[in-house]
Amino acid sequence: MSTGHLFIVSAPSGTGKSTLIRRLFEKGMGDAGDLVHSVSHTTRKPRRGERDGRDYYFVDRTTFEAMIKAQEFLEWAEVFGDYKGTSLREVDLRLDTGIDVILDIDVQGALQVLATRPTATFIFILPPNRTEMERRLRTRRLDEPEQVARRLALSRSEIERYGSYDYAIINDDLERASEALATIILDKRYRRERLEPQIQSILESFGSPGDDSSND
Ligand code: ADP
Ligand code: 5GP
Repeated sequence: MSTGHLFIVSAPSGTGKSTLIRRLFEKGMGDAGDLVHSVSHTTRKPRRGERDGRDYYFVDRTTFEAMIKAQEFLEWAEVFGDYKGTSLREVDLRLDTGIDVILDIDVQGALQVLATRPTATFIFILPPNRTEMERRLRTRRLDEPEQVARRLALSRSEIERYGSYDYAIINDDLERASEALATIILDKRYRRERLEPQIQSILESFGSPGDDSSND
């Protein structure tokens, strides 16, 4: 069995990253248990509708800082005043058993992963423009106005880091953008190197070299 592949998805807040990833799973990707979305730890308070263990593991700062000290994170960052991080446990158990893992993390976190897992695939999602991103942030009504302003203020410097990513997707049309994301994931899944163990076992089913009597 080959190991799973790690996908890193980043975007300025309000671009539609969570929507795109959710859509991927709604359309059946991962139904075979071969793709999971990693659940991060955070000290941020849950928003309306968010559930512990599904959207995030909601923990207090003391717990998060103890995890940093115990080196339990693949990456972590302080994002909009709250800690957010991906635990090694959340990722490596899956990768080791051949399951692909998607991380939805900010650019600071993505650069940390780039340093330690350079073979991961880095995907950057962009909004069509600033006005549309602001509209999306305001209409989803999940953040107080000052949080919206904070997220907008950071977005330009985040977008400027796009050069560290392998792929860029402009989330103008949701359907097209989600297809682009699915295509990138499938591309990695069908790489010849990835299928090597399965190909070897198919080859073995044909017997040893020289055993081929079918052409006689
Ligand atoms: P993020 O996870 O990047 O912060 P969300 O997924 O919460 O962003 O999306 C922000 C808002 O934009 C949501 O209300 C979502 O329904 C909307 N949205 C996402 N993608 C699109 C799109 N392609 N066109 C229009 N609205 C979108
Ligand atoms: P939100 O508060 O809207 O859920 O997320 C805000 C930002 O935090 C998004 O850019 C998201 O990608 C980022 N984020 C979520 N989880 C993690 C994580 O585990 N690590 C890092 N570095 N960023 C994260």
